[in-house]
Amino acid sequence: MRLRKIFAMVGAATVLGGCVLLYLVLDLTLLPSSNHNAPLTRETHSNSRWGKQFESSLEKLEGDIKRNQNKVQEIKHAIDTISNFVNQRTESKEIDSNKFQNNLERNLYAGDEAETCPATSAEADINMLDLYNSIPFDNADGGVWKQGWNIEYNKQQWGPRRKLRIFLIPHSHNDPGWLKTFEDYYHSQTQAILTNLVNKLSEDSRRKFIWAEVSYLMLWWSEQGQENKDKMRRLVESGQLEIVTGGWVMNDEANSHFWAVVQQLTEGHEWLMQHLGVRPKHAWAIDPFGHSATNAYLLKKSQIAASLIQRVHYSVKKRLAQDKGLEFRWRQGWSNDKSDMLTHMMPFYSYDVPHTCGPDPKVCCQFDFKRLPGYGVTCPWRISPQPITKDNVRQRAELLLDQYRKKAQLYRTNVLLVPLGDDFRYDHSAEWDAQFNNYQALFDHLNSRQDLYVEAQFATLNDYFSALKIEVGGEKRLPSLTGDFFTYADRDDHYWSGYFTSRPYYKRLDRVLIGYLRAAEVIFSLAWSHGKATSSNGSPWLLSPHAGLRNKLTIARQANALFQHHDGVTGTAKDHVMRDYGNKMIKAIDSVQHVIQMSAQYLLYNQANPELDPNDIYFHLDDTRPRTGALSKRNKITFGEGLDTRKVVLFNSLNRARTEFVRLRVANYNVMVTDLSHRPLPSQVQPLFDEMASMVDGEYELLFIATVPPLSLSTFLISWTSNADERAPLASVSLANHQGQHKLHSAEGFEQIGSLPEGQNIKVDSQQISAIFSSHGLLKSVSTQGITMTIKLEFVRYGAVEGRERSGAYLFLPDGPAKVIMLKQAPLVRVISGPVATQIEVQHPFVLHQATVYNCSGEVGSSIEMVNLVELVNGKNIEVAMRLTSDIESGDTYYTDLNAFQMIERRRQLHKLPLQAHYFPMSGMAYIEDSGIRLSVISGQPLGAASLSSGQLEIMQDRRLAQDDNRGLNQGVEDNHPTPNVFRLLLERKSCHSEQWPRSSLAAHLSHQSLLWPLVHLIAAGDPLVQLKGSFSPETSSECGLHVLNLRTSWLTERPRVGLVMHQLAWDECLPPPVGLSCTPRMSSMLNVSAVLPLSFGRQMQKSSLTFLHTGEHMPTNTNQSLCPNELAAFLLA
Ligand SMILES: [Zn+2]
Repeated sequence: MRLRKIFAMVGAATVLGGCVLLYLVLDLTLLPSSNHNAPLTRETHSNSRWGKQFESSLEKLEGDIKRNQNKVQEIKHAIDTISNFVNQRTESKEIDSNKFQNNLERNLYAGDEAETCPATSAEADINMLDLYNSIPFDNADGGVWKQGWNIEYNKQQWGPRRKLRIFLIPHSHNDPGWLKTFEDYYHSQTQAILTNLVNKLSEDSRRKFIWAEVSYLMLWWSEQGQENKDKMRRLVESGQLEIVTGGWVMNDEANSHFWAVVQQLTEGHEWLMQHLGVRPKHAWAIDPFGHSATNAYLLKKSQIAASLIQRVHYSVKKRLAQDKGLEFRWRQGWSNDKSDMLTHMMPFYSYDVPHTCGPDPKVCCQFDFKRLPGYGVTCPWRISPQPITKDNVRQRAELLLDQYRKKAQLYRTNVLLVPLGDDFRYDHSAEWDAQFNNYQALFDHLNSRQDLYVEAQFATLNDYFSALKIEVGGEKRLPSLTGDFFTYADRDDHYWSGYFTSRPYYKRLDRVLIGYLRAAEVIFSLAWSHGKATSSNGSPWLLSPHAGLRNKLTIARQANALFQHHDGVTGTAKDHVMRDYGNKMIKAIDSVQHVIQMSAQYLLYNQANPELDPNDIYFHLDDTRPRTGALSKRNKITFGEGLDTRKVVLFNSLNRARTEFVRLRVANYNVMVTDLSHRPLPSQVQPLFDEMASMVDGEYELLFIATVPPLSLSTFLISWTSNADERAPLASVSLANHQGQHKLHSAEGFEQIGSLPEGQNIKVDSQQISAIFSSHGLLKSVSTQGITMTIKLEFVRYGAVEGRERSGAYLFLPDGPAKVIMLKQAPLVRVISGPVATQIEVQHPFVLHQATVYNCSGEVGSSIEMVNLVELVNGKNIEVAMRLTSDIESGDTYYTDLNAFQMIERRRQLHKLPLQAHYFPMSGMAYIEDSGIRLSVISGQPLGAASLSSGQLEIMQDRRLAQDDNRGLNQGVEDNHPTPNVFRLLLERKSCHSEQWPRSSLAAHLSHQSLLWPLVHLIAAGDPLVQLKGSFSPETSSECGLHVLNLRTSWLTERPRVGLVMHQLAWDECLPPPVGLSCTPRMSSMLNVSAVLPLSFGRQMQKSSLTFLHTGEHMPTNTNQSLCPNELAAFLLA
């Protein structure tokens, strides 16, 4: 038996190899050698967009290909059959397929070493910025296809050897939270959908389905018996069911931070590998409201071969359809063709059935058999579907085929993708029968007709893309494209730029959570590897169920992954669903704070591998939220009898040394802060205010500057002292515009309150910055690096336009340009100034604004920190933005980021696009510049941003809207919570003009890291000086540019392993880094993991895909590898 199996395998492999060889030979001979795989340059096509010349050569090639198509098809079928056979015969498939996979990837990763990194922006056939310049955005009425044109076709284009091949892809779009919570959707619909799926697909092997949301698979799987699990496994193995993308959710692409996108992908992929043995190959994103190039890159690095997108501006779709550019290779603007992601863009308005079979929704709706009379869903075009019978099949099939044929005119090939599904579809078994049986009848008829030259089948994305690649003659035959697909408009001037800001409380909470989650991942991995390296039996306690740390990490990973959903971090779910996400995130923060404090105790313990009490609190993390909607509560450090010194441990999760400001609450103003050698640190104590002019009694803020080595824990001592010479200096407090309208109260130690002259500017000087604030407490100008620039800060407000469609959770429809928020009288301004920082605070309508200038060298002292505590808890239809107006001659160009991963150029075109089209997602930063100066705003939360005139940059802070905007949510946005939006403002001199792709400065990168991945404050709970070591500080290098994005302990294999993701930061070298950095500012294109990580992680690793599902050969960690600027690389450590 075994021998026969081996023979069969060898035989199959030989045939397979022969076929591949034959296919390659054919492929080579079919295509002219001179331009085989030659990249298409923009010049070649400049006369006729990128298309004409390409089209004619493609047509010629198509002719050749078609003549040989039957052969190719036969070979493809043979390959399919054989590979199916191989799959079926492979009993121990896990191990064997892994081997096969590894062989593939050995080739895939080979040749990585000697690459040259692209220095300038990528060339591509389609550049989205240029395309925007050339599109008229005239919104012409296209007839039945309202946003397109009247499509006509010539039947002669099909023949016996040129058949139109229809791939109908049944799907069900399941939002993990929107109108209902994730769990409520599951119980009311998704559970039934998945149970029906395994039953109804098993009935007929011709039926296919795709599924995207792994979060739901996880819930369903946890409730199933062996039979249903086996059924699902069989469906996946047979190819009837394809898991697409495989993320925990279908993530938002505008507000999400790329760290979180990787995290949610990894979470989904890991689950799939563990339970279904699946590595997803294709991506499916039909609902995110605009699409980001960063997402394409992350999918590419996760070994996803092709992807589908849908929500793109209707005018962009139309233009791409006219040029047959809806299928393209999406290229990173900063990379080369190595980054290309084969992308299919859907052409029409929506992903529902009426808008997917062809251009006429009135016709397509008749082929959504859930809308048959009696099912409760109808066609708004008032023509219902009819059950397919012998009598009507000919007429119905021809009607449908006409739509398919028209749709096919928009693409280059004769393979046609047609989705069949909608939100939460297929929850009743009758719907499965209605759709599958009626379509099968239509297909049987179409396929039997010799005169139609059509082949129709149910399909998965894999079926479609496999056919497409063969038909098109290799991906490289498709045009390349750079840029992104923001800002989305689905009709008229309905731009979806509201959701870049909606529910900022939750958007900020998202960033707080990822800060803690990343810190927990890193410190847990450090603790585990350290324990393993220092003891022969590993670190059993840390991993034990008794410790509960894995469970707590899992809770947080899942909560964070869930919130990346396109109705989560977007802020577009119903109030109670947002609260549910918030509760989950707060629980997640609690969970990982526990992991952090346990891991810190573990690493600092005096003996190796201690057994800790899992319920004990060793450290308080200085940041808790009692409930969703609440602001962070801080710990007050108290002193008492015999307790005049408290210990604070700081954790630096970054692999570079960093010098940062620490703010702690203390019960006494007579305090000093030292390191463990009792050396005092630069510090100051300042009062806290409960009202504008009223200080809090018995609680103060201690600010100090601490330096912590890479991946380290360092201990600092906060002591009560009666010695006035050694205590931290007290800040001075001055008030401006205090005209008696505020209650005045001073706290002990701060009895002297200064008064600033009315109407005068406030000047603040520090080591690196000199800033002038108006008498209203708002920034007016900044001097730094020898430049002085007017930078006027204002708060402005938008109203909602009157009419049928008004601003809501998704849409931003302003009633005209913003109006500056004027004050009836000068507001009270607080100026708190000490040796290490000066802070200016002012209450404006809707915003308590705080600006801080730190008096130190390095990155922290190079920027102005701004915190806007936004309270938009009253009022109707108000949107508040912070606007900066400078003298920078930025013209109509500005830059925003994509998922805090890359910068992208934006252009203002107010002559043809409305104001709201100029708002873009600012996930992490935005900048404007001229030849000599750049102004950057770095953001601690995702918000919408725009530059509406030269020299200006504005960032929306919050929005409160009284009505629904007709996109299904059915409510306004009125659940606003007080939200602390945090920013850093950087003014930098440019020493040269860079021809490179747009990138932030090094100072901006470091500022962003400091906002996103702050030092974790651990306040020792118990007796401060016993049992623990003062520090944990592994020996590693400290470079600014090589960033450990994540160190994630994975339980994918029996033995846990740590996954490492590295990011080679790229910065604009024309903006010199600030003096006094604590890391080495060297931009490199090389990586040596052994220099970055402590030795405890071992000396061996495997290169892997971004989500660790695909692994290459083992290699020493000290291998020098190429890693170009901005690239990510992942490794599984031994
Ligand atoms: Zn959705």
